[in-house]
Amino acid sequence: MKKTYKIIICIAILVYGIVWIYFSLPKKGLGKYVYVDDQRILHSTNECKGITRIHGASPVNVYSKDELNASTWNSVCSECVNDKIYRQVMECLQENASKDSLLNADWSKYGNENRKWLYVKMNENGVNTGSYEDFNNSLDNIAEDRDWYYQKCLRIGLNVGSRENFDSLMKLK
Ligand SMILES: [Zn+2]
Repeated sequence: MKKTYKIIICIAILVYGIVWIYFSLPKKGLGKYVYVDDQRILHSTNECKGITRIHGASPVNVYSKDELNASTWNSVCSECVNDKIYRQVMECLQENASKDSLLNADWSKYGNENRKWLYVKMNENGVNTGSYEDFNNSLDNIAEDRDWYYQKCLRIGLNVGSRENFDSLMKLK
């Protein structure tokens, strides 16, 4: 009986040790940055052996819509990018794209105003809106301008939904 007890304790310690080692090992996963080298190869870490030491690789913030862009790499490093990491990168790309959706925008940044969001996005994309007052005036009073802004949204890739969605979110009659 006493021997069985000892064996159980030994097994328990062993299991505990294995679990502890497992959880203390560094996890290979996607961090805040990925790296694109001068051969246009995507790496998940700048420690990767695949990166030439001479030129190095440029860090890319995966949470930045402006930085993470699939057109900046031609291929993916097989040393440091596994399927899971690649999937995570693709998810970040999608998520970044949806940040520019009117339906999912971070409203607090725009005083919870749909129009303010559109105004900021238009200006970020180099569209000449005039002052915020002019912009509001155009939306409220000039049918052609409303159409123009809607078309502009589609052209610069802002997700504003259908024309009906757009009108109702902009509170247009
Ligand atoms: Zn690599």
